[in-house]
Amino acid sequence: MSSKCRQKYRNPWEAYLGGIIRQFSWPYPISFDEMDENERQREVEWLDYMEKDGPGWDKYMRGMGEKCAWEIPLTPEQKAARLKRRPLLARAIAFAGNKHAEQTRKDKKETPYIEHLFAVCTALMLTGEVTDQEILAAAMLHDTLEDTETTPEELENIFSARVRALVEEVTDDKSLRKEERKYFQIEHASRLSKDAALIKLADKISNVSDIIFNPPRDWTVQRREDYLTWAEAVVAECPHANPALKERFGKLVAEGRALLGNPKLLRDTARIRRKEAEQACLEMVTRIPLS
Ligand code: ZN
Repeated sequence: MSSKCRQKYRNPWEAYLGGIIRQFSWPYPISFDEMDENERQREVEWLDYMEKDGPGWDKYMRGMGEKCAWEIPLTPEQKAARLKRRPLLARAIAFAGNKHAEQTRKDKKETPYIEHLFAVCTALMLTGEVTDQEILAAAMLHDTLEDTETTPEELENIFSARVRALVEEVTDDKSLRKEERKYFQIEHASRLSKDAALIKLADKISNVSDIIFNPPRDWTVQRREDYLTWAEAVVAECPHANPALKERFGKLVAEGRALLGNPKLLRDTARIRRKEAEQACLEMVTRIPLS
């Protein structure tokens, strides 16, 4: 069966994110009771492996990779049925993790794409204090229509009509040229619903943060500054949905402008922000309902 799993993690952080996605991923039953003989046997082997070689975070994560390789073939119907038993947000993480599995951001470290989605979700939960599970799930899924082979119907079937509508609202029209799309986003922002505006804001926080601290390869300072200006224009048009998110965005842009001309300070600050982001993501993950 096709399994889009990254077997090789380059550092503990990537392994951690990979592990989270594995944990929430659809081929796995929720409890021991629900497994068939074959699955139980593998679970026992897995626990055995953990006993012998664990504990240890990296071993655990390596094990997760191996566990993924043991994947049991399930029909699409079985997968869908299992997936639907997961709470909405865990389901969205599994779905997005699989859909974006092979993708990376444009930075020189080639950060796994899923980090962006976790960052958006983290901003919503921790900064915006958003608890609406459909909004959070839609945040996790917000790039699936634009960047993966996902259909709106799929989102509606596996999640809900509201999740589908939210993702559609924040998806760019790909028939437009890149420049037109950028202009259209500013225009379109004012017509967003308040719920979609939350996702848009968190998305811009994550993107702007990347442009400042972990930019795409070959971007000049000028191009990065122009991006901040454009993102500001989009956010200015968004309905006022969440003061905390808006304030964070404003501070981030100001910080970026101050740092872009100072490479040494930028590098040092980037390291601090990176640690903070990892901590925040860990905190976010603990808040995901598992049942
Ligand atoms: Zn995005």
